[in-house]
Amino acid sequence: MESCRYRKCVICGIRNLPKSSTAVLASFPLDPDRCRLWVKASGIEDFVHVPIEKLHQSKYVCGSHFAPECFNSKGNRLPSSAVPTLRLNRPLLSDDLFAEFPLHVKSNHAKFEKGKILCNFM
Ligand SMILES: [Zn+2]
Repeated sequence: MESCRYRKCVICGIRNLPKSSTAVLASFPLDPDRCRLWVKASGIEDFVHVPIEKLHQSKYVCGSHFAPECFNSKGNRLPSSAVPTLRLNRPLLSDDLFAEFPLHVKSNHAKFEKGKILCNFM
């Protein structure tokens, strides 16, 4: 078992992936265009206001939301171009929400970052 650092799928909330199946938890892409598609697919409006570096570090999507043809030949890896399209349990976010997307981490926003707990690993 992993210690304090846990990963969880932002779409279905799964944390412990079955060992046997195509166990993939993919982190959000740093590429702004692809990250936008992932945020859109997640349906979580709050993510629009999170810097993409933060999303990349702390948010994941599990393999069950990617079409089988997205995976490599072994079925255990996703190329960086993959976008979640399956079993999305929230409606896609509207493009209107992405007017200011993507945000980036800025050092002078340290105060804001400190006060906001997005995830609880150290
Ligand atoms: Zn999932």
